[in-house]
Amino acid sequence: MKLPLLLLSLGLVLTLPADAQKKTTSLPEFQVKKSETEAHMRFLAGDELLGRRTGEQGNFVAARYIAEQFRRMGVVPVPGNTSSGTSAYFQSVPFEKMGGNGAGEIIADAEIMKSGTDWILMSGEAADIKAPIVYASFGLENSAKSWDDYKGLDVKGKVVLVESGTPETQTPSEIIATSAEKRKLAMDKGAIAMIELFNAPTPWNMVNKYFAGEKISLADNEKAVSKSIPHAWVNGKDAKYARALRAVKEVEFKTAGRASQLVKSYNVAGYIPGTDPKLKEEYVLLTAHYDHIGIGKQGGQPYTPEDSIFNGARDNAFGIVALLTAAEALVKNPPKRSIVLVALTGEEVGLLGSKYYAAHPIMPLNKCIFNMNSDGAGYNDTTIVAVMGLERTGARAEIEMASKAFGLGVFADPSPEQGLFDRSDNVSFAKEGVPAPTFTPGFREFNGDIMKYYHQATDNPETIDFNYLLKFSQAYTYATRLIADRKTAPQWSAGDKYEPAAKKLYGK
Ligand SMILES: [Zn+2]
Repeated sequence: MKLPLLLLSLGLVLTLPADAQKKTTSLPEFQVKKSETEAHMRFLAGDELLGRRTGEQGNFVAARYIAEQFRRMGVVPVPGNTSSGTSAYFQSVPFEKMGGNGAGEIIADAEIMKSGTDWILMSGEAADIKAPIVYASFGLENSAKSWDDYKGLDVKGKVVLVESGTPETQTPSEIIATSAEKRKLAMDKGAIAMIELFNAPTPWNMVNKYFAGEKISLADNEKAVSKSIPHAWVNGKDAKYARALRAVKEVEFKTAGRASQLVKSYNVAGYIPGTDPKLKEEYVLLTAHYDHIGIGKQGGQPYTPEDSIFNGARDNAFGIVALLTAAEALVKNPPKRSIVLVALTGEEVGLLGSKYYAAHPIMPLNKCIFNMNSDGAGYNDTTIVAVMGLERTGARAEIEMASKAFGLGVFADPSPEQGLFDRSDNVSFAKEGVPAPTFTPGFREFNGDIMKYYHQATDNPETIDFNYLLKFSQAYTYATRLIADRKTAPQWSAGDKYEPAAKKLYGK
């Protein structure tokens, strides 16, 4: 395909290249109408969907819309989807939703610490405890027991006091990573509550703002919410509280608790069988998340009574429109390899829909040669698409050729300081070894133009450039076709951090 295009660009318009071009432009993705992509966008980012928050009504409506679009187009459910949901297009994803931080007090001698100001309840039901307190250092042990902070301690029926993080690290991510493990260990040892002195250099008011709100996680158990002892993060930077807690023999711990409930949401999955008798066993996985952050204070950003809905037109109705465009064009004229389309839920609450899918793939991941994810914060350059991981995932030529066919350039990895490759659902598949870039609306840097809409109530469908939405969706579709028709599967660049996972996945 390259040679005729090259000749064309040199002005050598001969019969052969003209035919070749005619053949290309007769592909369904070249026939898409702007009104089709615009209608998807206006529906998905409409106010009636209330910001599509995971596990809430607007989120279910979006899932239903995507499934019924698949049905209308002739995209079939993925073979082997044993979902017990009402639709064969749904993969049910179990979540646990924990309510916001409730009122409470921790009293250590003369010091009275207030919940929501001086501490946050990280989990646990309502409690009114007065019990001995035992200091257990970092509250960790290793499996070989060569390191055991509980050595010689009896914490049964008592409150455990621990430091956050580990002796080596007090980064917020390390604190978060170890916190649940500490709580579990304290419960296993028979403690009735845990107080953790939060010692990261992060400003406490930011920690408080971020962790005190409603929290959604994947449920360990689909049948029942997890049981937990009350577990508080106390502002360890406040020296008088840390000192008092370390000094006292007994502590009072009162909390209204954080109520948990099980909620469901759905990944929406469709399948297009490939045309090549052999290559159809392999597939290209197309993903985009359809959830967003909700309405009013759920959004965590300013809003007004006139506009309180976080519509998520750019993030990520945009990507879903591209996915639906690909579904419709590729089912009309399928490529050699099969296509699996998954509209993901739970991205905004921690990439959870993709994490769940990667752990429970409906079709084996070692038959997945490539994942083309689409997600974005917004755009400020409609002459390009931006692709996170373009130079790492082995399909640069196809992505560039497809974009060029719709008059778009390709910009690789804008704003590397933002670490965007690892901030969307593609990373859930990259970690498994699948070459997985994210195809993003055009921007060269993450600046004010992007922030103006990113996770803001202003990210409305009315502000979308519908000409660009069409071209973007067409380029995404054509790139997918070119990759699915390739002779050989794309490979990670040599030495990439995900290359070892690929070797493991594909066994070579
Ligand atoms: Zn997003």
